[in-house]
Amino acid sequence: MEQPTVFHRILSHELPADRVYEDDQVVAFKDINPKAPTHILFVPKEFVGSVADLTPETAHLPGMLVMKAKDFAAANGIEGYKLVFHVGQEGGQEVFYLHLHLLSQKKLPEKKE
Ligand code: 5GP
Repeated sequence: MEQPTVFHRILSHELPADRVYEDDQVVAFKDINPKAPTHILFVPKEFVGSVADLTPETAHLPGMLVMKAKDFAAANGIEGYKLVFHVGQEGGQEVFYLHLHLLSQKKLPEKKE
């Protein structure tokens, strides 16, 4: 593999992130530079660089991320949102580890301790 990306380092806990959801397939955390009141990144545990790198073996990953994002939104009372994949440098992709942006004008409920 090439250099680990910042998301590899977040998934391995080498770097901190404000995690809001995790299971055996995905980690979701708040974007460090939010473009909306709610801005969450959904990152698969299986590495693929970008939508442009998908193969028949990894074609399930975007659908899985969409499912996780819509379940997360429903569980948090977020009814309207945007889901975005940036693809390639010209598509605005900065981190070359497949991820789905969930953006909403509605704020996430505060975490209960
Ligand atoms: P892209 O443009 O690649 O689709 O999105 C990458 C996103 O990752 C950007 O919105 C950026 O703000 C976010 N990001 C970059 N570095 C970090 C980081 O270290 N922590 C978190 N939480 N988000 C990051």
